[in-house]
This record gives sequence, structure tokens and C-alpha cells, in this order.
Amino acid sequence: MAPGNRFAFFDGAIVPIEQAQVSVMTNALHYGTGCFEGIRAYWNAEAQQLLVFLLRQHMERLQRSCRILSLELPHTTDELCRITLDLLRREEFRTDAYIRPLVYKRDASIAVQMTGLSDAFALFALPYGQYIPGAAVRACVSSWRRVDDNVIPARAKPTGAYINTALAKTEAILNGYDEAIVLGADGQVSEASSSNLFIVRNGTLMTPPVTGDILEGITRRVVLDLARDELNVPVLERTIDRTELYVADEVFFCGTGVEIKPVIEIDRRPVGTGEVGPIGSRLVQLYSAIVRGRVERYREWCTAVA
Ligand code: PMP
Repeated sequence: MAPGNRFAFFDGAIVPIEQAQVSVMTNALHYGTGCFEGIRAYWNAEAQQLLVFLLRQHMERLQRSCRILSLELPHTTDELCRITLDLLRREEFRTDAYIRPLVYKRDASIAVQMTGLSDAFALFALPYGQYIPGAAVRACVSSWRRVDDNVIPARAKPTGAYINTALAKTEAILNGYDEAIVLGADGQVSEASSSNLFIVRNGTLMTPPVTGDILEGITRRVVLDLARDELNVPVLERTIDRTELYVADEVFFCGTGVEIKPVIEIDRRPVGTGEVGPIGSRLVQLYSAIVRGRVERYREWCTAVA
């Protein structure tokens, strides 16, 4: 059998993927009472090594999501990292992969609450390429608004919150765009359907603050660090108005799935010159080298599956 997606970590052990099944009565299936992570691993062909990118940071965020949502994760961060590496070793991927840890209310119960129900942890991985094909994307501003921190916390990654992502993404696709930019309840830019957003205006890189109903993206943090340490570009975390999207010199999305993806058109207006700009293109190159372990000073961000 070709390597990939043959196993899952389920109920405390690595089992064949067909055995990782839940009941139709599972609480999380009905109410979205769970949270998850999305992690990437990159195949480095020269070194014949699979490298997991920022593994620990993702597992730490999973722990924080569980705290926010009152889910009990039955594993420490160290155990979660070990489970991931164990599973990837079994899968024997020789290609890029996507890893999905999931914590969820497992009981066959119709109770709509977080207390008094038991939690389960599962993890699986798939071979995975580009989330959105192509070097650049066309986006629209969605008519759907981002979930507010006091409605469903975007800071966590609640499974149920992704109906918001699905609605925005579906609308974008049906209207002929690649991706949706979502505004917060106050009408200011929050993020894209499943990635964070940066704009460049007059040489300054800007992104909405972590208090702007966004996921505190791990790639967002990487971009902020690289802008400061590698690009020498000034950075501002501040609210962004919708119309700033139309006058920005550059816009790009960033996230584990989408990686760094320049946006060349928004609401049928060209972004800047309508071509990928210099800061976006520099970040795309740097990021793709870093995630494959090709930049020595960032090699520690990658964990080899040995
Ligand atoms: N926002 C949302 C809503 C997301 O689903 C994601 C993907 N996890 C991101 C932002 C980007 O976060 P990260 O860089 O940690 O993958």
C-alpha cells in the first residue's frame, strides 16, 4: 500500500484508520464541541527527511484552545509531540503532509454543555499539497462576519466555529473568487476564512491585532519575526479598515495550510500593481526554504521524523 493516511492515533493507541470510528450520537458531531490543530510536515528530498514545522507551538495552542473551551486534553504537550512523531514514522510519508489533532466531546449525549461529558483525543495525517493552487489568489470581502470573542472565541480553534469559515469560503467560491476576507462584528478586517492577513502600505507591514477576533496564527507570528529579523520592514499590529485593502500596495494571507499566499485582486480591484509585490515574494521564498529545513538559523523550527 502507498504510504499515507493508513493509521490514526485513537483511544490511546495507533490503529488502522478504518478502526478510528465514532458513533452517530457523538456529542461533538452535533454541537461542534471540540477543537483542533492543523500542522504541516515537509519532505526534504535531499536529506530524505520529513520535517514537522513548529510542532510544539501547535500543540501548545491546542492546550490553550482546550483551556478556553473547557475541554480536557488527556495528554501533555510532550506526549502530543511524541504521538505525532510516532504516527508519522508509521505512515512513512515521502511527501508533504498535513497533521490533524482533534479533541472532542465523545459521549453519546444530547446534553449541550461542556461539563459532565468526557473528552477524547485523536490524530491522523494525510499527504497534502497546496491549499489553494497557484502563486497568487483573488479574494472578496465576505458578506459573513467573523465570530466575536464573546460569541465563539476565534482565539481557540473550536470545531464548531468552522461553519463560519465554510460559509465565507463557499460564498467566495460560488462568486468566482479563491478566498474570502472576513470582517469582524465592528466592520474592520479580521482575517481570511482560514488564514491571517497582512497588508503593506508605504513600506510598513500591518496586520490586525490579536484582540481583533482572529486566530493567533503561528504563521502570523513567523511573518512578524521574519519581517523584523530578515526583511528589516517596520511592522504594525493595528486595526485595518476594509477600504485599506483597496489602496494597499501588497496584501497576503498566511497560515499553516495556505502558507504565504499573495493576493493580487480584492473585490475586482487590483492590489497594488496587480502583481505579486516585493515583500510578499521575499516572504514566500524565505518561508518555503525555512519549512524545508534549508535555512540553518531556523532549523530548530523543524522537527525531523527520525
Ligand atoms: N485563521 C484561521 C481562522 C485559521 O483557521 C487558520 C489556520 N489554522 C489561521 C488563521 C492561520 O493560523 P496558523 O498560522 O496557526 O495555521
